[in-house]
Amino acid sequence: MKWIISNHKMNLTKKEIENYVDQISTLKSSNELVFCPSSIYLPYFQNQVNYSLGAQNVADRNMGALTGEIAIQQLKSLNVKYVIVGHSERRNILNETEEMINQKVKLILENAMVPVLCIGEKEEEINDRENILMNEIDSAFTNQVNLDQVIIAYEPIWAIGTGKIPTTEEITTITQMIKDYVHKKYQIFCRVLYGGSVSINNIDELNQVPNIDGYLIGGTSLDIEKLRVIIEKMEEEV
Ligand code: PEP
Repeated sequence: MKWIISNHKMNLTKKEIENYVDQISTLKSSNELVFCPSSIYLPYFQNQVNYSLGAQNVADRNMGALTGEIAIQQLKSLNVKYVIVGHSERRNILNETEEMINQKVKLILENAMVPVLCIGEKEEEINDRENILMNEIDSAFTNQVNLDQVIIAYEPIWAIGTGKIPTTEEITTITQMIKDYVHKKYQIFCRVLYGGSVSINNIDELNQVPNIDGYLIGGTSLDIEKLRVIIEKMEEEV
């Protein structure tokens, strides 16, 4: 089974999300479909017959006094199963630190949910890519238990929303590097997704990557017909 995780980011109005939710029931997949809408729309996604629910973020501490944040306990009460953590937009635009990311992963695991840990290098860091990725993994994984639940999303920052993607050979090599590193250091078999400009134009190419466990999809996931094409093309691979 593979994972197809839709990250809506800060998109879609109430009317648009209502239309979107109406159409989800027409999607069929033998893979795991996950939707991560804006958190204000999580209650619209409670009919989880053919999909699971994810959140785009969680607070780095338990429920209580923290204006504007959302606690893991609140996400759990809305049947959220997956939580995206460490997305480059939060790391770079909102200055989310490695300590916060580590804390979030801890809370997600403690609550028996699945962290989707995003890691990736900037364009100018490509030559140092392996170190960047290993450091991001180590910072998030330090002092954690039940790490076998974690999903890693390899998202090269230069590929997010740009239409550019690494070659299939590069993705194969990096995915294997991540899996081998995590296995050797943490004794777990980690699932690794690719994210960054996945589209109906490159999905055939991406599906050639033999060791990838699925995709984290931003922009393309906002259009349910495009998402349907991707889901169907992945079905051919099952
Ligand atoms: C993302 O930011 O998680 C992402 C994959 O975005 P996009 O597909 O739009 O590049």
